[in-house]
Amino acid sequence: MKKAYLGVDIGSISTKGIIIDENHHILASEYLWTEGNPMDAVKRLIHQLRNQLDNKKYKIVGVGTTGSARKLIGVILGANVVKNEITAHAIGTLSLYPDVRTIFEIGGQDSKIIIIEDGIVVDYAMNTLCAAGTGSFLSSQSRRLGLEVEDFGPLALKSKNPTNIAARCTVFAESDLVHKAQMGHKKEDIVAGLCKAVVTNYLNNVGKGKKIYSPIVFQGGVSKNIGVIKAFEEATGEKIIVDENSHLMGALGVAILSQTDQKEVDFNFDIEEIEFKTKGVECKRCANNCEIICVYKDGKLIDSWGNKCDRGAIKVRKEEKSR
Ligand code: SF4
Repeated sequence: MKKAYLGVDIGSISTKGIIIDENHHILASEYLWTEGNPMDAVKRLIHQLRNQLDNKKYKIVGVGTTGSARKLIGVILGANVVKNEITAHAIGTLSLYPDVRTIFEIGGQDSKIIIIEDGIVVDYAMNTLCAAGTGSFLSSQSRRLGLEVEDFGPLALKSKNPTNIAARCTVFAESDLVHKAQMGHKKEDIVAGLCKAVVTNYLNNVGKGKKIYSPIVFQGGVSKNIGVIKAFEEATGEKIIVDENSHLMGALGVAILSQTDQKEVDFNFDIEEIEFKTKGVECKRCANNCEIICVYKDGKLIDSWGNKCDRGAIKVRKEEKSR
């Protein structure tokens, strides 16, 4: 059997998975919506990946997770590597573009910028607070305009005179958009204006004070939007590189990192049939009131975290014994 490596990037909006071989060739990949339930999303993801992989030829010996639910999903999948998004995206991108200097990433609910020098991350920033520069903002505005988000980019390219949309925050942008639509601005101009607003918001917030050098690689779900790519090229005066798998870079990064870890895992696709549950336990032994997350596999506690000291762990163990 040949060795293969699984990488999972699980965020609040989307869940991405990839399986690669020892030479980083993609054997299977999937992108689906998290729908507010990371445990269910990861089961659906594994089901899809299983159908794509030649199980007689490959055995998964490394598993990596990243994204906001990386710890939980790492426990469920028995991952040997759990990494933050910055590291995961940098490693994934560097594997394809070794000369990359700047990574723009805009996902469903957050955005980040990563600055690289000689293949090493030297600076980064994340924005998880303002939605005005993210994919969920573009989706909600396209719905407001009666458009599918997929049509957004091509329509923006038709604009000769993009509408100026206030980009400071979601609330301002929304009310400005309604106002401009009522004033009779063309749909393509409003859409192009929104793409520009996303880019302006991104560069003024997450990119504030950062030295942006080329090559620039743009990734995350919004990198599929050709209107936003054009707006980035106009704003930076540089060519923007978008890989065909730009939405999978975080997953690719952790799959590669799982390969570098010495410890091999015994991954089993049967997690679909296993019941996982989480429970929050509040430790009241001091004023910190830590909320401890407990993860159960078929009713048995397999991991817990969130306690700032051992007294919280002792409390969880005591509760388990008395169950
Ligand atoms: S886990 Fe430790 S720090 Fe947190 S509430 Fe309990 S005693 Fe306090």
